[in-house]
Amino acid sequence: MNIKDNLKKIIDSIPEKVTLVAVSKTKPIADLQEAYDAGQRIFGENKIQEMVDKYDALPKDIKWHMIGHLQSNKVKYMAHFVDLIHGVDKLKTLVEINKQAKKHDRVINCLIQARIAKEDTKFGLTFKEIETILTSEKTAELKNINIVGFMGMATFTDDTAQLSEEFSSLETFFKTQKEKTATLNCNLEVLSMGMSGDYQLAIENGSNMIRVGSSIFGSRN
Ligand SMILES: *Cc1c(COP(=O)(O)O)cnc(C)c1O
Repeated sequence: MNIKDNLKKIIDSIPEKVTLVAVSKTKPIADLQEAYDAGQRIFGENKIQEMVDKYDALPKDIKWHMIGHLQSNKVKYMAHFVDLIHGVDKLKTLVEINKQAKKHDRVINCLIQARIAKEDTKFGLTFKEIETILTSEKTAELKNINIVGFMGMATFTDDTAQLSEEFSSLETFFKTQKEKTATLNCNLEVLSMGMSGDYQLAIENGSNMIRVGSSIFGSRN
């Protein structure tokens, strides 16, 4: 199967309201161009330098999503074009994104990364920590960011009961926070959950944005 067919197969299998982020990390420009020619406009990368290089080389109507773990000192390299940053897990990072967005007179959309996996992982915040950020006065001052939702990565497992439990825990939290927090720079609409192996299950449990790499572009080395 080629990239175009892979994309079509996924798009045909998901509801229209679910946004597909084509995760193109490590893949050559030619592969992204092929996906672009098939109509794909949202791409996800996990390294800032790689995303900048691809941004420079490809059509400018592409929306670039940063899905990797963020180093604050590198935010400046993508602040002029990044469309959505998925992996925010520190107030300090939001402050830096705000600062860099302001320089470009932009508002940058962000997702807060929640820790939902039972396995040991360094990344993501507990629900309590997220609430602290959402209700902090410091956050409210950041006029050049918009917190548009949450991102979660489930445990790497075949246990569908466990995956469903992890996904639905974030959906429940998302729904309660959505009710509670609508402020100028926090409008929770996006729930980014699901990758090649588990996106159907993620959608069943409330995801409206999936990040799919290998099922589109083939496995990475
Ligand atoms: C690599 C990556 C994906 C895509 O993974 P696949 O299994 O190839 O679909 C999704 N989300 C994040 C955060 C990633 O780093």
